Amino acid sequence: MAELTKVFLDEDEIPTHWYNIAADFPNPAPPHLHPGTQQPLQPDDLAPLFPAGLIEQELSTQRWIEIPDEVRDIYRLWRPSPLHRARRLERALGTTARIYYKYEGESPVGSHKTNSAVPQAYYNREAGRMRLTTETGAGQWGSALAFATQIFGQSCEVWQVRNTYESKPYRRMLMETYGATVTPSPSELTAAGRALRERFPDTPGSLGMAISEAVEVAAGDPDASYALGSVLNHVALHQSVIGQEAIKQLAKFGEQAPDFLFACAGGGSNLAGISFPFLRENIEGRMNVDVVACEPAAAPSLTEGEYRYDFGDSSQMTPLLKMYTLGADFVPDPVHAGGLRYHGMAPLVSHAYHEGLLRAIAIKQREAFAAGVEFARAEGIVPASESNHAIAGALRQAKQAAQDGTSPVILIGVSGSGQLDLPAYSEFLAGNMLDA
Ligand SMILES: *Cc1c(COP(=O)(O)O)cnc(C)c1O
Repeated sequence: MAELTKVFLDEDEIPTHWYNIAADFPNPAPPHLHPGTQQPLQPDDLAPLFPAGLIEQELSTQRWIEIPDEVRDIYRLWRPSPLHRARRLERALGTTARIYYKYEGESPVGSHKTNSAVPQAYYNREAGRMRLTTETGAGQWGSALAFATQIFGQSCEVWQVRNTYESKPYRRMLMETYGATVTPSPSELTAAGRALRERFPDTPGSLGMAISEAVEVAAGDPDASYALGSVLNHVALHQSVIGQEAIKQLAKFGEQAPDFLFACAGGGSNLAGISFPFLRENIEGRMNVDVVACEPAAAPSLTEGEYRYDFGDSSQMTPLLKMYTLGADFVPDPVHAGGLRYHGMAPLVSHAYHEGLLRAIAIKQREAFAAGVEFARAEGIVPASESNHAIAGALRQAKQAAQDGTSPVILIGVSGSGQLDLPAYSEFLAGNMLDA
């Protein structure tokens, strides 16, 4: 029999529970704080923004949290996602490494974001909250929430960073196709947006600004909720289906464990999702996986940020989160093509990094796109611009293995498809991409 190239699991092998790493940290993660009192956040503090089911998950230290049947049933539309052995890439690189990639680009919107959008819409519907607001950068999260809310009959209002609203119109069209309303941020519709426009008339916008607007609207309507696509604990939790599936699939390839795991890190959710189930194996002494967060050199929160309490948004309305941060008023350079431009890093990922459970590297965008092109030409899949950072990290390791004559097992989290990022590829191929 020919050697396996990809492993799908059966639908009944979709995980039944989300995995919560907070239960297994050798030292507990610092709590979120109330911005006024500086005391650990209480469930009621979050009630204006989130439904009870998500608040419970946000503050939970329970190891396994059952996935509701209705959510698991919707997951069947794209889960389990495939795990591929990148044989053609290995050959193209001339590496002795065995390279695997877990591909989240087959979800309806082309990224891992639906893994959290669906449960978030579900718990809001359970609480009778039928109006959701959110922010989006490149549009992946906005389109995931637009998709999820229409399943549950909710309305969805998206504030999209102005720069990408203008430069990436296709995702706006996708959000509108799912029935969402999309507004460029900062806008005139909110007090936060108006204040930001007065202070920074020509601003390209930022995720922090868009969050301020979405939070303001949700906080002002008791029937509305705010939804965040990354950073928070409950989002990391939902994404844990990725790593749980990958562990089973690697076993079907006959691999005990990866030696290295590379995932890109913007707010940290896909990295958390693929790596935390492996970190559990590390903590329990069953594996020794070297987990590497690959962040963009243009927004290097782990490698150059400070580990401290900071706000999640520019207008200082969110709870205080202990995280690696570049500062809540950080505005990334709009020339950067990758969508990984948030100022902070998920508190759970930040804690894992601080505790030495994972490491981080920063990658410039030309190296990332060169890796993405190499990957596309060998494997056929054009990766999302964010995912290219993970691939670039893995290629460094694979080339090192070829030099050293070692045969490590390398697992890459390919968080999404790059079909809507083709203008950035085109800029790279034309030699016009700045090396930021
Ligand atoms: C949103 C997104 C990211 C970055 O967010 P994380 O929370 O760091 O995962 C990465 N890849 C893709 C495809 C995305 O859509």
